[in-house]
Amino acid sequence: MTIIDCDTMFNESIEKLKETGVRITPQRKAVLEYLIETETHPTADEIFKALSHNHKNMSVATVYNNLKLFKEVGLVTELTYGDASSRFDFKTSPHYHVICKDCGKIMDFQYPALEEVEELASLLTGMEVDGHRLELYGRCRTCNKKED
Ligand SMILES: [Zn+2]
Ligand SMILES: [Zn+2]
Repeated sequence: MTIIDCDTMFNESIEKLKETGVRITPQRKAVLEYLIETETHPTADEIFKALSHNHKNMSVATVYNNLKLFKEVGLVTELTYGDASSRFDFKTSPHYHVICKDCGKIMDFQYPALEEVEELASLLTGMEVDGHRLELYGRCRTCNKKED
């Protein structure tokens, strides 16, 4: 969260949700806030575990419903990797993921130069390109240390 601060992102997201006419419930706010503040790309289960003790009437279903809504509104991206459960990423500026093959940790990095690839692809193929996906795989520092 470097470019815009969390509060601004939170307020803008709430405005966007209000425009769609949904009710802003305390649970909805909590899920949204958690997604903005955490950088770990959590699963629905992890979000539930992190929030349930402060929100007594929160259920896994509530978390899922909110994630589905946020996805429809364009606030979050769902990341699917094989048959592991989906992880969720609050949409900030375009970025790519490096995934640890051992523990599944996902880290963000930016590489703006790669945006040119869309233009090039569209030039070469005549297709209207509107997105791309790049994933890198490796081992995180913690997993590397375990080997020593
Ligand atoms: Zn790891
Ligand atoms: Zn990410």
